[in-house]
Amino acid sequence: MNITVASGKGGTGKSMVAANLAWSLSASDPVTLVDCDVEEPNLHLFFPDGHPVVSPVSVLVPDIDPDRCTLCGECARFCAFGALVAAKDRVLFFPEHCHSCGGCAVACPEGAIAEIARPIGTVTERTISPSLRLVTGTLNEGEVLAVKVIQKAKAAAGNAPWVIIDASPGTSCPVVETLTGSDFCILVTESTPFGLHDLAIAYDVTYQMGIQSGVVINRSDGKDEAAHRFCEEKKIPVLAVIPFERRIAEIQGSGNLISRRDPAWKERFCAIGRACRALWEGA
Ligand code: SF4
Ligand code: SF4
Repeated sequence: MNITVASGKGGTGKSMVAANLAWSLSASDPVTLVDCDVEEPNLHLFFPDGHPVVSPVSVLVPDIDPDRCTLCGECARFCAFGALVAAKDRVLFFPEHCHSCGGCAVACPEGAIAEIARPIGTVTERTISPSLRLVTGTLNEGEVLAVKVIQKAKAAAGNAPWVIIDASPGTSCPVVETLTGSDFCILVTESTPFGLHDLAIAYDVTYQMGIQSGVVINRSDGKDEAAHRFCEEKKIPVLAVIPFERRIAEIQGSGNLISRRDPAWKERFCAIGRACRALWEGA
């Protein structure tokens, strides 16, 4: 089963939920945990062990042969992203704007454009325990094609019985790419007006994509009526409420997991996984 953990805003504890869920489920089943928050991956901080195997992620970009180029400007006119500009004496290329569509190579009447690989990030695989793998996608600084790195990270995940994917916060293209193909989405929120506002937006994305979801309310101060009301209205199950407790904050702050320290929490996260599976199978 493939579960994406998402949230409408940053700082809700989404990565903490993903890491605890993966760790807990791995006690009885093989699990692959995938960090698709590629601009700021952080799951490896919870799992520092394991030898990293790093694979580069590259995209194809145009390489113009100046000896064949007649400066006709056809490629620049074709490129919808403004990555090519025909100047008086050469064609200028702005790699950060290129979406690697390959169209300019086809459009060039002189056959002056070849395609070469340009690295934009990495996918790192670690074996944390005999039943837990961590796959981390990392986008190089200054790059924008997060979606390409996410696709590679998801492909590296394989098809373990449980694949738990940590999405980036928000509802932009990288989140939609991360959610694509998911069986279920856990939406992590907190009991504040901002949290509820962003939960509604994130839920709407999963709804539009036809992906069943459930909610985890994190850092609850016990005043979660609005979040519960929203979930009732939308018929979204509340999978768990995690209280705002000093002990939990201290454990997380030290880079540890509450489920690794406390068997009761391990069982609670296993129950979240089982509930997701039951909802998915019953859908
Ligand atoms: S590959 Fe596509 S996006 Fe990149 S420069 Fe060529 S036309 Fe533009
Ligand atoms: S389309 Fe080809 S020949 Fe024309 S400017 Fe571009 S690279 Fe040069």
